[in-house]
Amino acid sequence: VLKYSPFVVSFRKQYPWVQLSGHAGNFQAGEDGRILKRFCQSEQRSLEQLMRDPLRPFVPAYYGMVLQDGQAFNQMEDLLADFEGPSIMDCKMGSRTYLEEELVKARERPRPRKDMYEKMVAVDPGAPTPEEHAQGAVTKPRYMQWRETASSTSTLGFRIEGIKKADGTCNTNFKKTQALEQVTKVLEDFVDGSRDILRKYVTRLEKLREALENSPFFKTHEVVGSSLLFVHDHSGLAKVWMIDFGKTVALPDHQTLNHRLPWSEGNREDGYLWGLDNMIGLLQGLAHS
Ligand code: ATP
Ligand code: MG
Ligand code: MG
Repeated sequence: VLKYSPFVVSFRKQYPWVQLSGHAGNFQAGEDGRILKRFCQSEQRSLEQLMRDPLRPFVPAYYGMVLQDGQAFNQMEDLLADFEGPSIMDCKMGSRTYLEEELVKARERPRPRKDMYEKMVAVDPGAPTPEEHAQGAVTKPRYMQWRETASSTSTLGFRIEGIKKADGTCNTNFKKTQALEQVTKVLEDFVDGSRDILRKYVTRLEKLREALENSPFFKTHEVVGSSLLFVHDHSGLAKVWMIDFGKTVALPDHQTLNHRLPWSEGNREDGYLWGLDNMIGLLQGLAHS
């Protein structure tokens, strides 16, 4: 569900702030041009290190932890602040959107989950096995692994989480958007077919890819559940940033990731660059069609 967060950001001008995923209560207005996101330790660690990394131009500026009404928040740059009535898209990157440690934990006590069965059936009534149907439940690891195959996460290395367009239309129901043709259509509609916007996104993403390939941070972290936030407006401004580092964790000393290799449990590969390659290829195809 799309959240029009219950605050208005004041920064030169006033505008309603838009949140495409996550819990509605997780965000608040910060100081001018800044927002507050519910505190998370791994996100803080990541943002701090990213401020001293080649990726800095591609992440929201980080302003440290703040306390408000007894609650802790990470204060960061509001990426919407420079736009006029923006169109916004959140794409969750990678071929896997849970951490290996989450899978291990989910397996420890794999009790049958009715809630997850219901979520599964809501997306695809044919997904559960006959046994799961009979039980009316699935285990958490089963649910986690199935979910990636319903969307384009496992086939393209990214999935669209939500889109809000300047004309007011919005969609956060892309759980079944899996086929390349479907994803392509959604991306084309997001930019209203504008080649100019597509070219700007491609240029920005190519620079991001170069920064990722040169980033000591990226080499040494498993980056899971992180998104690219696409923002453009009628003035022709179009930019992309990396957001959401709640599941970005450091690897053990001396271990590095390739980010393009397929995942097999234990290698911790996240498929981030594989997904980015696919995304760039897709947008390039649209820009030149
Ligand atoms: P989840 O893990 O479910 O994706 P979350 O609580 O970790 O949610 P984020 O994914 O970081 O939250 O952000 C949720 C949404 O808030 C994004 O999709 C985007 O619309 C908006 N958002 C997040 N960070 C920023 C930012 N720095 N500037 C502008 N918008 C942002
Ligand atoms: Mg997110
Ligand atoms: Mg998150």
